[in-house]
Amino acid sequence: MSSEKILIVEDELDILNLLLYTFENEGFEPYGFEDGEQALESLEKKAPDMILLDLMLPGMDGLEVCRRIKSKSKTKDIPVLMLTAKSEVDDRITGLEHGADDYLTKPFSPRELVLRVQGLLRRGHPVQEEEPYWESGGLSVDFASFQVKLDGREIPLTTTEFNLLSAMIRSNGRVLNREQLLDQVWGYDFVGYARTVDTHMHRLRHKLDRYGEWIETVRGIGYRFKAQASPS
Ligand code: CA
Repeated sequence: MSSEKILIVEDELDILNLLLYTFENEGFEPYGFEDGEQALESLEKKAPDMILLDLMLPGMDGLEVCRRIKSKSKTKDIPVLMLTAKSEVDDRITGLEHGADDYLTKPFSPRELVLRVQGLLRRGHPVQEEEPYWESGGLSVDFASFQVKLDGREIPLTTTEFNLLSAMIRSNGRVLNREQLLDQVWGYDFVGYARTVDTHMHRLRHKLDRYGEWIETVRGIGYRFKAQASPS
C-alpha cells in the first residue's frame, strides 16, 4: 500500500517542520511549502491525497488558495483542512464557505491533527452501501462514481457536499438533526458546530438549483429530504 501524500502549506517554519516530521512518523508522505503560490504551482504536477492549509500566509492568503483549489476540477475533490489561530474564529467559518472541508484551531496537538486527517481521508472513501444508484425526477446520484446529475448534466460537488446529499437521500424522508449529520458526514470525532452543517447545506442547495428545494429545513431540528417527481 502506498502511503498517502499530504501537502502542507505553512509559513512558520517551526510548525511546518513539526508537521512534516509528525506525518512522516505516522507513515504518510508529507511535503510542504511556505506560501500559497508555490503550493498551487506544485498541484499542477502532483496531486496529494489531502491538503493542510494555514489561513494566514504571506502574499496570497489561505482562503484564496482554498478557493482556487476548489474551483479547479483537477483539485476540487482533494480534502482541505484549514489551520487557523484562535483569534481568527470567524475566519474558520469563512474557510468553510470557501470550500474547506474541515478546520483546526491553533494551538493543536499533532495527535489531534493526525486523527482529523485520518477522518477526512476516510470520508473521501465512504463505505459503499446497498444501493449504488439513486434517481428521482431529474436528479440522479451514482454512489460508486460520485457523480451527481441534474437533468442529465453533471454538477461538481465537494466530498462534503456529496456525503451530505448521500446522507439526506439515504434517510428515506426521516428528519436528520444537525448532530446526526455531523456524525454521518464529518465523523464521530469531529467537534463541529451546527453552523458548519448549515453552511455546507446552503452550498449544496444552491448547487442543486431547483432540486435544492427538496432539502427541507425543519426549524430548530435539522433537515429532511423530500424527493418528488419534479420540483415546482
Ligand atoms: Ca501563518
